[in-house]
Amino acid sequence: MTDSLISSAYTQALEVIGAVEPRIADATRQELADQRGSLKLIASENYASPAVLLTMGTWFSDKYAEGTVGHRFYAGCQNVDTVESLAAEHARELFGAPYAYVQPHSGIDANLVAFWSILANRVESPYLQKMQAKNVNELTEADWETLRAELGNQRLLGMSLDAGGHLTHGFRPNISGKMFHQQQYGTDPETGLLDYDAVAAKAREFKPLVLVAGYSAYPRRVNFAKMREIADEVGAVLMVDMAHFAGLVAGKVFTGEEDPVPYAHITTTTTHKSLRGPRGGMVLAQEEFAADVDRGCPMVLGGPLSHVMAAKAVAFAEARQSSFQAYAQQIADNAQSLADGFLKRDARLVTGGTDNHLVLLDVSSFGLTGRQAESALLDAGVVTNRNSIPGDPNGAWYTSGIRLGTPALTTRGFGHDEFDTVAELIVDVLSNTEAGTTKAGGPSKASYVLGDGVAERTKAASGELLDKHPLYPGLVLG
Ligand SMILES: *Cc1c(COP(=O)(O)O)cnc(C)c1O
Repeated sequence: MTDSLISSAYTQALEVIGAVEPRIADATRQELADQRGSLKLIASENYASPAVLLTMGTWFSDKYAEGTVGHRFYAGCQNVDTVESLAAEHARELFGAPYAYVQPHSGIDANLVAFWSILANRVESPYLQKMQAKNVNELTEADWETLRAELGNQRLLGMSLDAGGHLTHGFRPNISGKMFHQQQYGTDPETGLLDYDAVAAKAREFKPLVLVAGYSAYPRRVNFAKMREIADEVGAVLMVDMAHFAGLVAGKVFTGEEDPVPYAHITTTTTHKSLRGPRGGMVLAQEEFAADVDRGCPMVLGGPLSHVMAAKAVAFAEARQSSFQAYAQQIADNAQSLADGFLKRDARLVTGGTDNHLVLLDVSSFGLTGRQAESALLDAGVVTNRNSIPGDPNGAWYTSGIRLGTPALTTRGFGHDEFDTVAELIVDVLSNTEAGTTKAGGPSKASYVLGDGVAERTKAASGELLDKHPLYPGLVLG
């Protein structure tokens, strides 16, 4: 019954869309076909449920609702209030957080809200107090000049990009690396693992206002109790960005000292990665930061995306079901199977394995750059992304690594045997790919030659796995 409802809902929606711009309806159909037909190993992607997707396609999209629940700058927000309250309530229950702010449009927005909340809460400035007290008009141009200098010289310590951190954790080209005086911590050059003593030593020396933990490409768990201890010792605010692994926290795979929410002053996340919700962001906070986070609009954000907040509520309701815990455990088990599949075929993994949802394959032993490996795999229907590895000799563009994640294919029902086959297919493609040469005859970091028949045999083998585990199995477009 649900299957036929979903099928007719999408069939009819595409007819309505096609009557206005048929090329968009066609592209939408094609996207479904392409997603169904490819082996998606991008660690930051997933497949949200039809209920989550359908929730985004409504008239909530039309409503402006700047402000907070019960305190809006627009009239007629009673239903948005219902939606936002429910999404926040589900989030608080799901993560055991005192406070949840569900308005951020993306992970980056959530981090900007968190940064400014921390500045507002912790920078001691009479000017800042006046600003918060809404006596903004009393500030002279000279006061603003001082305030800008005070806010602008605060210190942030985050994980470096090549160790697995995110752009927003103080990477120079990102705004976080410009608005803050920044330093970065890396991983141990021998083991590739986070070295808490080294982070502590750096923190003691640098005395950051903000210590950021969390990652996009680190294949291991983090002990957040230790990170909090470091933050407390130097008087820093601990901000954890769990964008990648929020699903493992929600699904109770990361508990105790691996659950960031009780230890962080502020936790940020996306909602569309392992958490499997709509594209969006969220901030969780301890009580002392709640009022500052609540000023996300107008501090950083404009009108919230009400239709997406509604979809967040639906996704969080799904994540509160016990089946989500089984899903989250399977994500981690599958990453283990994938890592074992590589190791037994003599491939090299950064840190020698994984204990979360991703593996970082060092492709230099195949004589390839990440860029060449990514392209060759794509030719064979395997969708991945290239990624720097610690101390990467090929830089952030060509790289030496491939990042692979299990959340999406786990949603399709892949298990141990399927992920072992995935490792086998990837090793086969990379072993049969040769680095190309430049026009001048030197070694190229971009061009490559894929062996005869490799793409065909990989597609045939992965096609079997994909057919056995269809995406949106009941969804048939008429
Ligand atoms: C993906 C990611 C983000 C950014 O999320 P967007 O929704 O793309 O803005 C932020 N932080 C981390 C750690 C991420 O992995």
